[in-house]
Amino acid sequence: MSKSVVIVGASMGGLRTAEALRNAGFTDNIAVIGDESHAPYNRPPLSKEVLAKEVTHEAVAFKQRQQTADVVWKFGSPVVDANLDAKTVTTDDGETFSYDGLVIASGLRPRRLDVPNGNVTGRHTVRSLDDAIGLRAALVPGARVVVAGAGFIGCEVAATARGLGCEVTAVAIDEYPMVRPLGPTFAADLQARHETHGVQFRLRRGIADLEGDGALTGVLLDDGELLPADVLVEAISSHCNTEWLNNTNLDLSNGVLADRALRAVTVDGNSVDGVHVVGDLARFANPLFDDVARRIEHWNIPTETGKRVGPVLNAYLSGEGYDELVAQPFTPMPSFWSDQYDLKIQGFGMPALADEIAIIEGSIGGELVMGYYRGGKLVGVVGIGLTSTLMKLRKELMGDA
Ligand SMILES: Cc1cc2nc3c(=O)[nH]c(=O)nc-3n(C[C@H](O)[C@H](O)[C@H](O)COP(=O)(O)OP(=O)(O)OC[C@H]3O[C@@H](n4cnc5c(N)ncnc54)[C@H](O)[C@@H]3O)c2cc1C
Repeated sequence: MSKSVVIVGASMGGLRTAEALRNAGFTDNIAVIGDESHAPYNRPPLSKEVLAKEVTHEAVAFKQRQQTADVVWKFGSPVVDANLDAKTVTTDDGETFSYDGLVIASGLRPRRLDVPNGNVTGRHTVRSLDDAIGLRAALVPGARVVVAGAGFIGCEVAATARGLGCEVTAVAIDEYPMVRPLGPTFAADLQARHETHGVQFRLRRGIADLEGDGALTGVLLDDGELLPADVLVEAISSHCNTEWLNNTNLDLSNGVLADRALRAVTVDGNSVDGVHVVGDLARFANPLFDDVARRIEHWNIPTETGKRVGPVLNAYLSGEGYDELVAQPFTPMPSFWSDQYDLKIQGFGMPALADEIAIIEGSIGGELVMGYYRGGKLVGVVGIGLTSTLMKLRKELMGDA
């Protein structure tokens, strides 16, 4: 009898899993259900080159590959409930989908500022294509832009907005921009590079309220300073899109806990056969580093997790070779990049785990490679330029994996 896989989340993780299922030999039904109205597209350009130009679906859409041409896509339909006993999911229009295999690929959404006068226009986030279209229209020369949050996305939007001729101030509770992945020395260097391009910073500061009656006119900081503003970009971390799983017994304490085969794990610690999680939502242990389960919000993870789930789920559904595949270790190398002005920051591993940081090559203000160590062992590298050194260190990070 023919089997059905339902994938919830029609973005990169969902698409890559559908491709991997087909590559593994699964020829039965695959349905992908997404709440956005667009076919899967690539998010990184939305804060970088595409935001700097014209934001269109065409500019960011993923290529539809031959092997997934017969996948059924349902767009604009949030899944609102899942029943793991009945093996069904239900969308907000009341349609119920039965599955033999379920893939959780519903990703994240931006966290918003909680302020008393939040009901003003001019507030933006950058997660979706629609978000980026709205923000692009507001980034006109001379616009006074406040970016809340100085992580990857906040820094990229600040750089892009400067390039478009906006006045930009970045506000963050951290002591430096991108301090968590970079550490203080590199992050202070990055701040100086932004300041050279005219970005102002208000660090170790929070946002207390917004000014404006209808349209935003200012952003009030928690030390009383008022920043005049037309545009506020909120890039202050994310929420996990797991509410549709609230009626299950899965461990949803931070994303969805998963085992090494990326099977979802219940609150009692049991792996659920046939139910997998991919992408930003997957919280799994990576033996390259330790046995602590973590989520990794980097672009290569939807692909790596999708490639892991495809063969395992196919084996489960076909009954062939499942136990052997589940027993294999899963050791993806986290890899990330960030484009800001003419800088390409590239990194591998988990630098945020480090207890010691040192420059391996180059120097502050120029090209450099920074090493991140925990207990004397390299756990991450980040650099600007010097790609061949970075690639050598990536191999060292992989060890025998
Ligand atoms: C602006 C931006 C820039 C980035 N830049 C970089 C970068 O430079 N380098 C890097 O390494 N990473 C970057 N990333 C991170 C990278 O894009 C993500 O890691 C990746 O998109 C995660 O893919 P995903 O499929 O897990 O989740 P998502 O891409 O979030 O996809 C989840 C999908 O599920 C949908 N969904 C949610 N709930 C439901 C529901 N109930 N029912 C149906 N559908 C639902 C969502 O709307 C979404 O379409 C960036 C991310 C953003 C937003």
